[in-house]
Amino acid sequence: MTQQQPFDVLGAGSGGYIASIRAGQLGLKVACVEANPYADPKGEPRPGGTCLNVGCIPSKALLSSSEEFENIQKHVLAHGIRVAGATMDVPAMIARKDAIVTKMAQGIEFLFRKNKVTYLKGRATILGRADDGFKVAITRSGPTQELTARNLVIATGSLPRELPGIEVDNVDVCDNAGALDLRSVPRRMAIIGAGVIGLELGSVWRRLGAQVTVVEALPQLLPMCDTDVAREMLKLLTAQGMDFRFGARVTGLERASDGSLGLAYVDAQGIAHAVACDKLVVAVGRVPTTSDLGLETLGVKTTSRGFVDVDAQCRTSVDGVYAIGDVVRGPMLAHKAEDEGVMVMERIAGQAGHVNYDAIPSIIYTSPEVAWVGRTEQELKDAGIAYRTGRFPFTANGRALGNGDTSGFVKVLADEKTDAVLGAHIISTYASEMIGEATMAIEFKASAEDIGRISHAHPTLYEAMREASLAIGTGALNL
Ligand code: FAD
Ligand code: NAD
Repeated sequence: MTQQQPFDVLGAGSGGYIASIRAGQLGLKVACVEANPYADPKGEPRPGGTCLNVGCIPSKALLSSSEEFENIQKHVLAHGIRVAGATMDVPAMIARKDAIVTKMAQGIEFLFRKNKVTYLKGRATILGRADDGFKVAITRSGPTQELTARNLVIATGSLPRELPGIEVDNVDVCDNAGALDLRSVPRRMAIIGAGVIGLELGSVWRRLGAQVTVVEALPQLLPMCDTDVAREMLKLLTAQGMDFRFGARVTGLERASDGSLGLAYVDAQGIAHAVACDKLVVAVGRVPTTSDLGLETLGVKTTSRGFVDVDAQCRTSVDGVYAIGDVVRGPMLAHKAEDEGVMVMERIAGQAGHVNYDAIPSIIYTSPEVAWVGRTEQELKDAGIAYRTGRFPFTANGRALGNGDTSGFVKVLADEKTDAVLGAHIISTYASEMIGEATMAIEFKASAEDIGRISHAHPTLYEAMREASLAIGTGALNL
């Protein structure tokens, strides 16, 4: 069967599904192809990609459940609330998470119908190019479908990076998918990689009672964060009970006869260690999904690390072929993939779609949360940019005191000459919500003084953003 579709999106993850919806809104005729291995309860490939099925959404659901549990266990007493004998029903927590994912996947299918997106379930392989467009085969059980597309948008995302000698079975040795689907709390969990997944999923299972050990190759935590933030987070997470082993070279995994695991590593001094655990989570980064796609049939260039090579507008080396999201350079973030999807479709429609890569916020949903946007202090130093720093701690914020959590601070970096906001770094509960103000400031080229002069509701946590901005100029009012 052959269908004529002017535009084709390969992958219905954050990038692909949003690109398809935007295409529909722009009046473009679009087909979105998904081979998602994470099937819905009826066994059908489900849209939403990594983010919805085994990433952002399920991890935030579990982070929320586990935080409620920890609050009841440890924090509500300070409010005068006495709760005895609270227990965690892990299967109920997992069922809640699954229901959220299912509901959102149905929402995407509804949006596809609403925006006249043709949703095709199957594995897409690029066959080549003919006079009338790009040829794509879509394989599933049954006859192979063939599409002809005037433009192709590759949005095939990423997969967990594997470590040689450590086979993931998602029973005892898990990647993100397995670690989001455990049916009971392991007594001891080891995690390889102190990156975003390691810290978020480690927090979930630690809050529920697991003894969590994180084995990290680098000598420090969160090298991509501002140094002050990384240092403070190490203190806070260690105080919560996470055990970090830095500068570790993993050398193997052994299984004992009682089913327990022994993760072997060598430290920076060359001394061998073993971490005994009941579950191991491998979270050492992700690799782009570019193999078996047929990119070579069109001559689409890839980088030495396997990413599709694109310019700032997500154009590949082949006219009419675009690539977005985790499969291209830049941070592996859902909103970055979405923004690129919107940009590409607007450009295809003749508009001026644009992504400001300097204003993409990042968040780590630990407790407290970490959020940042723009440059770190180290980056400004390295670039030789003169800057001023304003900092405000949540110990001096009335709302934080009322909430019972005063950990963390806001740090704002502004250009020394122009006062333009260059970066903002937050550690706090709800940092994920507060970073929006700083992102908008950078996008609109606001100065620190602008933030300081904007009325901020009282008492709120985000007053700390204003105070840190004021600290750059006339001085914080409450410190
Ligand atoms: P994906 O979401 O991976 O989607 C690609 C889709 O393409 C997949 O569904 C795949 O099945 C499909 N596909 C691949 N090959 C083919 C083919 N040949 N034919 C048809 N379909 C194909 N980001 C955030 O911003 N915030 C978060 O809180 C966050 N939390 C995360 C938590 C975890 C545990 C993980 C693993 C990731 C998290 N991320 C988060 C990252 C986020 O999930 C990704 O950046 C985002 O999903 C990338 O979107 P994408 O569309 O590029 O790729
Ligand atoms: P990551 O890049 O954040 O962290 C991987 C960590 O593993 C790094 O610290 C790295 O030094 C370490 N590592 C690599 N090889 C190792 C080895 N052999 N031994 C020990 N340590 C090793 O990757 P991740 O945590 O797997 O997450 C993947 C992607 O998903 C990230 O790019 C992230 O942006 C995205 N993600 C985002 C969120 C969020 O936005 N909140 C949440 C989860 C994941």
